Amino acid sequence: MIECYIGLGSNLQNPIQQVQSAVNYLSNWKNLKLIKVSSLYRGAPLGPSDQPDFINAAAYIRTTMTAIQLLNQLQTIEQIHKRERIKHWGPRTLDLDLLLYGNQTILSARLQVPHKEMRQRNFVLYPLFEIAPQLHLPDGQPLKDLLSDCPMGTLERFII
Ligand code: ADP
Ligand code: MG
Repeated sequence: MIECYIGLGSNLQNPIQQVQSAVNYLSNWKNLKLIKVSSLYRGAPLGPSDQPDFINAAAYIRTTMTAIQLLNQLQTIEQIHKRERIKHWGPRTLDLDLLLYGNQTILSARLQVPHKEMRQRNFVLYPLFEIAPQLHLPDGQPLKDLLSDCPMGTLERFII
């Protein structure tokens, strides 16, 4: 079993429900075991500001799938939630990112792991830190150190 971390995000069509539904899919998928899910976080959107706030969370899973199989799985779940890809950084019903796949570094046409922007994104780092405070990236960098360079800003944790 490979230990993986998934980033979840939504800012359309009842984002809280979108994220909860995605978690529900993850917990029922074969070849995948959901171990831990963070609280939900609310934050201002990245890029165009004429769009609703985002709801984000992180999940820790274990899986026997390859990284590409897992990406396919995540994209299937996005499609089930009728993900709209209107514009880059624009609103979306559901975004599922493969943040970390074990200790592997992957660079292929479809997949970059660790996720390319995770080091700079507070809405990825804070939920991840909540569920895995001791985590290190494949290059050895402690997650904790990334947080000290990335303020929480408008991001707020909430419990429902
Ligand atoms: P972002 O999540 O960066 O805001 P998108 O979700 O629209 O942007 O990007 C989707 C594309 O990113 C997919 O076509 C997928 O192949 C690619 N991709 C590369 N690395 C990853 C990853 N680690 N997790 C999810 N998608 C990835
Ligand atoms: Mg994505």
